[in-house]
Amino acid sequence: MKRSSPTVRSSRPLARAAARVVPAVLLTAAAVGLASPARAATYQVTGADSQGLAVQSEPHVNHVLRYVPNGTSLNVSCQINNGDQVDGKVYNGRPFTTWDQLADGTWVYDWYMNTPTVGADGYSPGVPHCGGGSLPPLAAGCVDWPSAKYLQTPLTSAANNRAGYAWQNGSHYGEGYHVSCNGPTRMNQYYAIDLGMNQGDPALSPGGAGTVLYAGWAPSGWETCGQYVVVDHGGGWWSVVCHLSAIHVSKGQRITNDTVIGAVGGTGGFAPHLHFSLVYNASLTAAGGVYGGQSARPRHLLHLGGGQGYYDTITKGQQVWY
Ligand SMILES: [Zn+2]
Repeated sequence: MKRSSPTVRSSRPLARAAARVVPAVLLTAAAVGLASPARAATYQVTGADSQGLAVQSEPHVNHVLRYVPNGTSLNVSCQINNGDQVDGKVYNGRPFTTWDQLADGTWVYDWYMNTPTVGADGYSPGVPHCGGGSLPPLAAGCVDWPSAKYLQTPLTSAANNRAGYAWQNGSHYGEGYHVSCNGPTRMNQYYAIDLGMNQGDPALSPGGAGTVLYAGWAPSGWETCGQYVVVDHGGGWWSVVCHLSAIHVSKGQRITNDTVIGAVGGTGGFAPHLHFSLVYNASLTAAGGVYGGQSARPRHLLHLGGGQGYYDTITKGQQVWY
């Protein structure tokens, strides 16, 4: 992971590969018999250019505090795999967005560290996930989408060249229209997410396979959803996709993980993006309105093609890889 400045391309694409054959030096506090409250382990900077590796205040580009040269030992506390992509590198078939948080709270891009090579989940084996890798407490009145049920990013398939890219945009948990967990007269969308996609992009069903309950213009009361699709995934679990510019499925149709349900748009009065939410035990009116039930938290998303993934906390403006 080297990185001098975000705009300078690396000339050492194999730096990571070279680093991974060298056993990481694990000089932990525990190894020398001391208390280790932060569970931090020491790794070295490798492959950086003459400017060195940027130590940053956040896992985002252009927050540089200082640069440190190759060979510098840094105390890594934990990793995230949803920081900014610094320099266009791809690993395990997806952009490299792994960042290391240091014991002092600062961040470095992981590519230029000799931490263990990241797996398909975007984390180095043995390095703790920041925040313990756990989800925050469930909002009162909401429910968790069953971990056994398949979720997917709406743009990961052959239809999207298996790009697997989602850019959370505009609003997220509890913001804007995403406010209600279990209001009896509401479309409960507390855990809805807006994914930045382009007008006309083919959209898959975020909930995966199921049966289409409704496909068309949202009825009175839900006009801001524009053209939308409601899918029944069984067991009382439904998904809702809004703002489509075109719909390619119809009521009663069985769909699979690979069915393109429509095209991304901004119907309902928004800039083009894909809004999706998950609900449990809701009701559908004859006109196609979804009412009641509980907003479901879309955890444990997987990718088609990528094979593995995690749904961690999505914060506003963050790039997300599932
Ligand atoms: Zn939305």
